[in-house]
Amino acid sequence: MADKSFFIDTTRCTACRGCQIACKQWNMNPATKTVQRGSHQNPEDLSYVTYKLVRFSEFEQDGKPVWYFFADQCRHCTTPPCKIVAESINVKSIKQDEATGAVLYDPKVKVKEKDYKEIRGSCPWDIPRWDEKTQGMAKCTMCIDRIKEGLLPACVKTCPSGAMNFGDREQILAMAKERLDEVKKKYPKAELLNHDFVRTIFLVVDDPKKYHKFAAANDDTFVASLNRSSVLVG
Ligand code: SF4
Ligand code: SF4
Repeated sequence: MADKSFFIDTTRCTACRGCQIACKQWNMNPATKTVQRGSHQNPEDLSYVTYKLVRFSEFEQDGKPVWYFFADQCRHCTTPPCKIVAESINVKSIKQDEATGAVLYDPKVKVKEKDYKEIRGSCPWDIPRWDEKTQGMAKCTMCIDRIKEGLLPACVKTCPSGAMNFGDREQILAMAKERLDEVKKKYPKAELLNHDFVRTIFLVVDDPKKYHKFAAANDDTFVASLNRSSVLVG
């Protein structure tokens, strides 16, 4: 099985949240009690039982309302800082699947809160989550159990708009670059976020920070994160 990747084209996302629900359903994660916070985004953030979250960002620009959607999840980094840090502090719950490149957490392994904070702090996209009750860490699994059976990840399978895509990394990179060229004609600021070192590649048309604070790691952040991991390892 080849190296895999996601391509998330935010220009096609309608914020239906089908991906978020499909993720919950496939992973048998319970619903989260939500409250109206003045946004359609619910729940408020990723959690131990929410691996996929459609983030809503609403603001005014040049007198016009702007609404951006960002179907957030683990980036399945090519060199995952979370794994490097975990190994350096003797936490044995993170593995990387050799065939697909998926970065996999074992929620059954207990992790001390201070170690979890170290691991979460190493992720430039602020993804890992921990549960006080079980003491385990969890996040997106790339639906490894589905893809080993030749199925698409649940979020991709359910997406009705073509925003979520998944496949062999080479093909996904080619698809993302082709779409970027097309989108740039209308939105010159369009870019692919961190595509060289992640397996979840987002296409955005504006400053990534307008979508979500942790939408993109600039190269310096990522390198700093890796250096910090190496220092811990070293
Ligand atoms: S996005 Fe964060 S949690 Fe996911 S593999 Fe990369 S460092 Fe680890
Ligand atoms: S299923 Fe597709 S269109 Fe719906 S919120 Fe997720 S990415 Fe957007």
